[in-house]
Amino acid sequence: MKDLLETIVEKNRKWTKYGNIATYIPGLANSDADHLGVFICDIRGEEYFAGDYDVKFTIQSISKIVSFICALIDNDFQKLSKKISVEPTADGFNSIVNLETKNGHRPLNPMINAGAIATISMVNGLTPKEKFNRVYDFMKKVTNNNHIYINNNIYYSEKTTGDRNRALAYYMKSTGIIEENIEEILNVYFKLCSIEITCKDIAYMGAVLANDGILPMSGERIITKEISKIVKAVMTTCGMYDSSGKFAVKVGLPAKSGVGGGIMAVVPKKMGIGVLGPALDESGNSIAGIKVLEDLSKELDLSIF
Ligand code: GLU
Repeated sequence: MKDLLETIVEKNRKWTKYGNIATYIPGLANSDADHLGVFICDIRGEEYFAGDYDVKFTIQSISKIVSFICALIDNDFQKLSKKISVEPTADGFNSIVNLETKNGHRPLNPMINAGAIATISMVNGLTPKEKFNRVYDFMKKVTNNNHIYINNNIYYSEKTTGDRNRALAYYMKSTGIIEENIEEILNVYFKLCSIEITCKDIAYMGAVLANDGILPMSGERIITKEISKIVKAVMTTCGMYDSSGKFAVKVGLPAKSGVGGGIMAVVPKKMGIGVLGPALDESGNSIAGIKVLEDLSKELDLSIF
């Protein structure tokens, strides 16, 4: 497996030259587009890795998975669905248009920015600090890593430039989807997106979902089977933004990307995979990262379809 991963990473390094780093968050402009790494954690806790697997990057939208899991634990699916649906979108991850025109003002799904911000408002916690800690603590559990921290440079960068997210959130306040103080909810969202992780952390996260909610290392159940199922289904249809359909055809795995260049993929009953490649395509997904996943899926026959 190690040889296979090394061959796949080296073969696909050329793809790091394509696409662009997400400079709309100025702090991300310093990311190194040459990085390409992969980490696999299987459901027995075995680890395999290659390339720049130990480089730190910000979790960005992959944090939406953890917020969604917490919101599903803290509310039932029915209650959550009154605020956020689980329908895919053909528009960009920070698009505003659907909030006005579709779905009774509900954000289409929890994997796009509007849905994730609304999801955070549904997580348990009487104060913003409690809400942040609710998701942050769960993120530590699901990554099996107590040493993940906010990158303050990226956090301030997001907070000072996040006007599109502000627009989405205030719009949702006007329609009653969010009732709390908007700046406080956004602050939690920006902080969660700015947590630094490695491919290993997201591979662990994927392994827990692959293992139907049970931590591979300790055997402790931290997510119900039902919730793991919901999360994997929504990852499959919405996790790669408006490229989720193409990704399902080419790779065929539940996955979630972030504009930091990470992708977390789940091979049900088998393994979690974390990849990093900071240069992104037009949808905001890592170009080289997708190529690595495509090859892995082909070589190991991993597609769920
Ligand atoms: N923090 C990013 C934003 O709000 C997350 C987007 C992403 O990773 O897709 O724009």
